[in-house]
Amino acid sequence: MEIEERQSEMHRLDEAIRVCVKCPLHTSRTHAVPGEGPVGAGVFIIGEGPGAKEDRQGRPFVGPSGMLLVRLLEVAGLDRRDVYITSCVKCRPPNNRTPHTVELDTCQASWLNPQLDLVNPRIIVLLGKVAIGQVLQEQGSLRTLHGQVVERNGRRHLLTYHPAAAFRVPETRVSMEEDMLTLKRLLA
Ligand code: URA
Repeated sequence: MEIEERQSEMHRLDEAIRVCVKCPLHTSRTHAVPGEGPVGAGVFIIGEGPGAKEDRQGRPFVGPSGMLLVRLLEVAGLDRRDVYITSCVKCRPPNNRTPHTVELDTCQASWLNPQLDLVNPRIIVLLGKVAIGQVLQEQGSLRTLHGQVVERNGRRHLLTYHPAAAFRVPETRVSMEEDMLTLKRLLA
């Protein structure tokens, strides 16, 4: 598919996500948050789900986690505008609770997988337990999972923490910076 065709297909997906009523999360959202970035991006970043600020603005990672994500991407030599950024679920779970399985599965099949097919990135960066569990069915401690590169179904995934973890445990940021250097090497 030509890039223009992929762009208009992504636009159609975004519009469909904004009016999605496929799972209960739509009842409490202000705005759905489809994702953003170039359809030709080499790096595709997957978080957990929108927070309060994302819900208000309809854009991914615009709150505190997003500010840290921008700094971390710089370690990998990347600008936020060069990567595609989205989350496992596109609507904010009430009080930022962990998304339920049915919400995750519905959103992945309906929206995340089509987004991945359209972008067809070189590397998928999975931020945190929820994204790693949902995309790779890998469970375990981030202490051992982070920094791993997992090839699955012809796709390459880099596992790391969710930026919010660094607000709870500051040393996590150092591990994430190491993972961003791994990302830089993978892209070289
Ligand atoms: N955390 C996420 O996982 N996604 C966002 O868009 C914002 C915070």
